[in-house]
Amino acid sequence: MPMHQRMSNALSYGEFLVYYQPVVTLADERIVGFEALCRWPQRDNTFAMPETFIGQAETTGFIVQLGDWVLRAATAQMRGWQQEYGRRLRLAVNLSGRQFLHFNLVKQIEDALSLSGFYATDLDFEITETVAMHNAEESIGVMRQLKSLGIGLALDDFGTGYSSLSYLKRFPIDVLKIDKSFVRDIPEDANDLAIVSAIIAMAHALGLRVLAEGVETAPQRDFLRECGCEFAQGFLFSRPLPPSECEQLLTTS
Ligand code: C2E
Ligand code: MG
Ligand code: MG
Repeated sequence: MPMHQRMSNALSYGEFLVYYQPVVTLADERIVGFEALCRWPQRDNTFAMPETFIGQAETTGFIVQLGDWVLRAATAQMRGWQQEYGRRLRLAVNLSGRQFLHFNLVKQIEDALSLSGFYATDLDFEITETVAMHNAEESIGVMRQLKSLGIGLALDDFGTGYSSLSYLKRFPIDVLKIDKSFVRDIPEDANDLAIVSAIIAMAHALGLRVLAEGVETAPQRDFLRECGCEFAQGFLFSRPLPPSECEQLLTTS
């Protein structure tokens, strides 16, 4: 069966899952939210990872349905946790290019929010700089619409795509996510140290907050903290987890 057919069947049979990776503050390592990451279980008990199917879903347009499902599932899950644990938790959801420029995006978001009761002001969308730059003027329009709903915006994988600093200034974004490829070789690689500290200083000068992805070691965390990076995600704190394990984490921390 072709992949797009398998994906579509899997969605209708409820086979896709959402895993959640904690986002922590670097100052005190408190969980302030989660990023929703899609997983597709296979018959052999392995997971198909997003790299192997998001691209194809993007090409066929299926990502619009899958992304809508992820948004609904994650907002409902997170609203449940907010109520159960009595704390404000932010949710970050990835938006691919096809979803970002889809005419029905705002309607899908409004429906997911009203069905779940999750607040727009606790939601962040992550858009890669390549997606944002492709058709930058139209992107700014969509970003403004999302901002007007109260949603936060993050530029994902920052530093790996092509972006122009003049657009960075014009995009109504709140957070820069430093790509894990720059974090990986901290503190050994002097170039990466320079790039990371420069990205953080530039982001702060532009009034943006910074989240570092892929933090795996204590020295990486310490360097980022010294540079004033506000938030982090990575295996040092937690891998992306199924809901039951997030609940254990929320009970104990
Ligand atoms: P991303 O949004 O940049 O997500 C970060 C990726 O880094 C995730 O991979 C996560 O599991 C991984 N990661 C987290 N901490 C560490 C770490 O400490 N070290 C390393 N080496 N990796 C870490 P994942 O889950 O395989 O997702 C890959 C990409 O697929 C995501 O990159 C995102 O662009 C896309 N994606 C995932 N779920 C969705 C979705 O629901 N919708 C859309 N449109 N894209 C999605
Ligand atoms: Mg992301
Ligand atoms: Mg990323």
